[in-house]
Amino acid sequence: MTRPDRRPTRSLALALLCVLIADFVEARMQPPRVHFVATGGTISNRDGGRLTAEELAKSMPGVDRYAKLTFEQFANVASSELTLQQWIELSRRINEIFAREKDVAGVVVTSGTDTLEETAFFLHLTVRDPRPVVVVGSMRNPSTLGYEGAANLLEGVRVAADPAARNKGTLVVLNDEINSARNVTKTDAVRLQTFRSREYGQLGVVDRDRVVFFNQITQRSNERSEFDINRITELPRVDVIMVYQGATGDLIKAAVDSGARGIVVATAGAGATSGTQGEGLQYAAQKGVFVVTTTRAGSGRIAPPRSDGANPNVTMTEAMQRRRQFAIAGEDHIPVKARILLMLALSMTRDRNEIQRIFSEY
Ligand code: GLU
Repeated sequence: MTRPDRRPTRSLALALLCVLIADFVEARMQPPRVHFVATGGTISNRDGGRLTAEELAKSMPGVDRYAKLTFEQFANVASSELTLQQWIELSRRINEIFAREKDVAGVVVTSGTDTLEETAFFLHLTVRDPRPVVVVGSMRNPSTLGYEGAANLLEGVRVAADPAARNKGTLVVLNDEINSARNVTKTDAVRLQTFRSREYGQLGVVDRDRVVFFNQITQRSNERSEFDINRITELPRVDVIMVYQGATGDLIKAAVDSGARGIVVATAGAGATSGTQGEGLQYAAQKGVFVVTTTRAGSGRIAPPRSDGANPNVTMTEAMQRRRQFAIAGEDHIPVKARILLMLALSMTRDRNEIQRIFSEY
């Protein structure tokens, strides 16, 4: 009896295995996809006509080594011209990209630098996915010698493509540095090294050989955020009022009368107001407007009152109790970012303790 010859079947299986391995290796060697959303800003503000998303995407020699880049034009305006409604749309769009396009490793957003930290923080709080959103911009425009936009954009793409950038919320990349959208602020009106996280320090750097992270932020963002942008149709009005010597309370009253649902006070030091601002804040409390205390000092934490209860040695008048009922400690958020957090908090709740919890967790 002769045994059946299994050699052809074996060779076929071997060939199939080789094809599968080759496909697998090829897929592994393909750079990840990064999607780029352009909103405008100095990075695109060329004399004689703004650069489009497509032109910016083509401005980075060697980008294919790091990512397969796709792109779209969301807007092409200065950062301060973006409306709050556009913020909602931008966040929804990025959430949609992450939900539908599983092969996207990360999203890069270009923005003007003036209010970049605000847009980035809004995305940090409302994009609920572990994959990174990386916001980039430039300080010099494309018609200026030393334009650094293409270099910053390429670095942003490299960070967005890097698996180490996951679960870190929204990142801001300019000038070879990676900062968290939560902590970063523009510290100089004109210099290239303007985006800083002050005492917190940078999260990492983009070097010639690789992207390196040194730090991690611990506060909630990404998947751990409770802010569902698809449920938010409009952001309530919240104004920021600055404390300075002899400042009057009528500006606070005007904000309240104009429909503000919240006021962020950029206090002197750790809570001091000035002039007649106390009267203005009393008026806000009477009208049920929440007041968040932050500092104009640039850094420093405003703590909630101890045990959040009344001091037994102080007899609380009705007015004091009312003020307390609408008072929130801004923790370590700078005034403009406290405003964003308050707008999002107010779109979900009017419970004072809940709002304070939100300030303490994000
Ligand atoms: N520096 C401006 C900004 O933050 C950009 C100027 C412009 O694009 O017109 O958006």
